Amino acid sequence: MIIAIDGPAASGKSTVAREVAKRLGYKYIDTGAMYRAVTWKALKEKIDITKADAITALARGADIEITDLKDTQYRVFIDGEDVTEAIRSPKVSAAVSTIAKIGRVRTALVKKQRSYADTYPNMVVEGRDIGTVVFPDAEAKVFLTASPIERAKRRQRELKEKGHKLEVTTVERDIITRDKIDATRITSPLAKAPDAYVIDTTDKTIGQVVQLIINLVKKS
Ligand code: C5P
Repeated sequence: MIIAIDGPAASGKSTVAREVAKRLGYKYIDTGAMYRAVTWKALKEKIDITKADAITALARGADIEITDLKDTQYRVFIDGEDVTEAIRSPKVSAAVSTIAKIGRVRTALVKKQRSYADTYPNMVVEGRDIGTVVFPDAEAKVFLTASPIERAKRRQRELKEKGHKLEVTTVERDIITRDKIDATRITSPLAKAPDAYVIDTTDKTIGQVVQLIINLVKKS
């Protein structure tokens, strides 16, 4: 069974998807980490992120590995380099949506995302286009939302834990910009699948959201 979890930046997808996967014993796949890994490599190699040909070549040639640790914890590697923490930096966050707009980059990464289904029959996959494009036949589809200010506060807390101190207004502006690029791009924009179950997480605890998804899964 595939559970697709989509939604805008910092809507709580990762925390919730991971917890659902843990509770059900499913494989957890974070597709944003793949776009972030390609972005990290492009920045490292000082490739102009608006140059679609160069970024596509990088994405096609990159060896992206997501290795499992215990309890849905994982590490992300690109061409053998461990970038698990580096891909969460504000610099990568600011550039990733520009790279994710490139249709050919998406084709390369979507192929890899779909290939996981050959190995793992039961997965929780989170991203922006999982229910609409990557796995349109997913048995359960969820679209998470939350108010921009709530999302900014959550992301600010996460960044602080990682040593990045940013004003909440800066974080809010950044996530609104990223959502706008993600939602207006031509190829597989951030969108709710018509058959997705929408959950506004603004006033809900992680436990409540997880339970709503588990209930949905049981029904489907
Ligand atoms: O989920 P996360 O915030 O880490 O995703 C980073 C970025 O990767 C998104 O803002 C979006 O530009 C891109 N992305 C995407 N499609 C996905 C997952 C992420 O375009 N399925």
